[in-house]
Amino acid sequence: MDSAKPIFSYRRYWAHRFGPAPMLPMSRAEMEALGWDSCDIIVVTGDAYVDHPSFGMAVIGRALEAQGFRVGIIAQPDWSDAKAFAALGKPNLFFGVTAGNMDSMVNRYTSDRRIRHNDSYTPNDEPGKRPDRAVIVYSQRCREAFRDTPIVIGGIEASLRRIAHYDYWSDKVRRSVLVDSRADLLVFGNGERAIIDIAHRLAKGQAIGHLDDIRGTAFLRNAVPGDWTVEASDHLDDEPGVPDAGWEGIRENALEKAFGGTGVPAGEGAHAGRDAGAADSKGDTDSNRTVVRLPAFEQVRDDPVLYAHASRLLHRESNPGNARPLIQRHGDKEVWLNPPPIPLTTPEMDGVYDLPYARAPHPAYGEAKIAAWDMIRFSVNIMRGCFGGCSFCSITEHEGRIIQNRSEASIIKELENIRDKTRGFTGIISDLGGPTANMYRLACKDRKTESLCRRPSCVFPDICKNLNTDHTPLIELYRKARALPGIKKVHIASGLRYDLAVRNPAYVKELVTHHVGGYLKIAPEHTEAGPLAKMMKPGIGTYDAFKAMFDKFAREAGKELYLIPYFIAAHPGTTDEDMMNLALWLKRNGYRADQVQTFLPSPMSLSAAMYYSGRNPLRPVRRNGSEEVVTAKGLKQRRLHKAFLRYHDAENWPMLREALKRMGRADLIGPGKHHLIPNWQPAGTGLSGGEGVRAGRKHGGQKFYTQQTTQSRRPGLPARKKDA
Ligand code: SF4
Repeated sequence: MDSAKPIFSYRRYWAHRFGPAPMLPMSRAEMEALGWDSCDIIVVTGDAYVDHPSFGMAVIGRALEAQGFRVGIIAQPDWSDAKAFAALGKPNLFFGVTAGNMDSMVNRYTSDRRIRHNDSYTPNDEPGKRPDRAVIVYSQRCREAFRDTPIVIGGIEASLRRIAHYDYWSDKVRRSVLVDSRADLLVFGNGERAIIDIAHRLAKGQAIGHLDDIRGTAFLRNAVPGDWTVEASDHLDDEPGVPDAGWEGIRENALEKAFGGTGVPAGEGAHAGRDAGAADSKGDTDSNRTVVRLPAFEQVRDDPVLYAHASRLLHRESNPGNARPLIQRHGDKEVWLNPPPIPLTTPEMDGVYDLPYARAPHPAYGEAKIAAWDMIRFSVNIMRGCFGGCSFCSITEHEGRIIQNRSEASIIKELENIRDKTRGFTGIISDLGGPTANMYRLACKDRKTESLCRRPSCVFPDICKNLNTDHTPLIELYRKARALPGIKKVHIASGLRYDLAVRNPAYVKELVTHHVGGYLKIAPEHTEAGPLAKMMKPGIGTYDAFKAMFDKFAREAGKELYLIPYFIAAHPGTTDEDMMNLALWLKRNGYRADQVQTFLPSPMSLSAAMYYSGRNPLRPVRRNGSEEVVTAKGLKQRRLHKAFLRYHDAENWPMLREALKRMGRADLIGPGKHHLIPNWQPAGTGLSGGEGVRAGRKHGGQKFYTQQTTQSRRPGLPARKKDA
């Protein structure tokens, strides 16, 4: 893998002489108090500003501040008026725009496309404080406020919408967010490395249009520069005998063999527009001047099979050790994606997490409660990334498969900071984890092998023999954390990868004996082989093995502990029979799920590609002969799948009775223990159409709509008033 310039090795910008701000300013008055006449960079965010390393705007803001730049924050501005975007004046270098820690559509709508009644990233949980598709709307208002100021978009929303993507909320394939936002650059994945480079290069006077060689960035260009070779993959090769491009094994050149061909548009290779500066580029993508062409936006919009093919290619080009740049035509423009960022080293991770965060919400929020802050204020993130590759999840796509670890010393220092500085700390650490609880310091045994690998998961279909699964460093970290004076208890609340844990009995013993208080939530997600294979999750037998180990160590510790398994309804590849079998498993094992999750196709995920295309992008995608995937799409069938998860809720019984009869399983209706549901109905129940008591009361009768389906003057603005 290429080496990268260490992020803290740049010569600091002259404004470092102002020193770090106690809080990044959100008003002109705060800027003046700091002695600033202007900001170098202004971060616009859809979340309330909390100065803590779990919040994207704080991490990026503080990382840029450490480089010497003056960074201001505009949090949850009134998006109907460009004036709100000029509140801190014109930034000297650029606007950084993010929707916040969540995609704005996921934040606002449920998986049934209903409006949520709360927003955990807003003071007092108030909903409606950010627009739908916030990156697009904020970028447009920034442009209106200061027409010539560069705009750099980033965060999860921009990251996962960087190419043409299926959008569940409008049920169509949308263009790359770059096109709709008209931003100058898009930063995807963990953004520190890219944003720091962008800031220094703009500060040196380089034009934003010439920054075309930074990993982890995407941009629009008119044509492919002449010194690049285009490897076309904008068609499907369905000839018999094509070498299998499956993900099994390490096949660096499988893509080329399987998807070779022509298809380069006329004019390829011309220099134009943004490309005028390309010849001067000396960036880290120069070593390999081959770019892979994905099917165009118009093609994937009109042809679901090509969409699945593009999704497969994108995911195969996601390892920073071997990924090549990608291009995707949108009309007369090319969306150009540079390879993903080089993961941060441990000293860099420590540097980012050790920045002078105030570890509190901005004082402007007063005593207002911010639920997301309350949830993490006593927890510590020990690593980034996930090599699980669950196909419905965005973590691997955003943070990458290579685990980026903090050092023990840095983690211990943060625990001491919480103990000594965080208001309300009672000695209980609520979590010591990350995207996954138990991937700390786990990695491929061989760096060279890792850099060649194109597998989407290191643990599916089985744990790779090249993976180091030793949990000893994590056990040692737990021991040091709970030995700290003033720390009474350290809980582990992050999701546990139990297929890894079960190979480390000493870890499970440590976890159960010291770090679980009553319940441990884990996510088998399903019991049936069909959906599990599409999710890239281990079989339920692994869960059973883990449960046996968990129960044994709980008994030995004299503790009464319970596992709470989580499941997803209606994931692609799930039939009604699969859900029925899951319900029977739940009943056999005495589980009654309260909160249940129906599959939500998040932008760019492999599962979303299955949902939209009906093909399996985990296998070779061909015009004829691709594996087809069935998915519950209609509201009625999705509700049925959810109802199976809550088989014990009388509201769901009429729907389940009808379904079981249709499926020829009326034998499961009756009064016995072996029946799934009874044949009688309690008075006053079963009237909510299968919505269940909890959901029915809260959400009944609402319609689904988005701001984009109302008549509006510009995207994101309120609807026009009717003419009088
Ligand atoms: S451990 Fe992971 S990166 Fe290494 S060869 Fe196996 S799948 Fe690839």
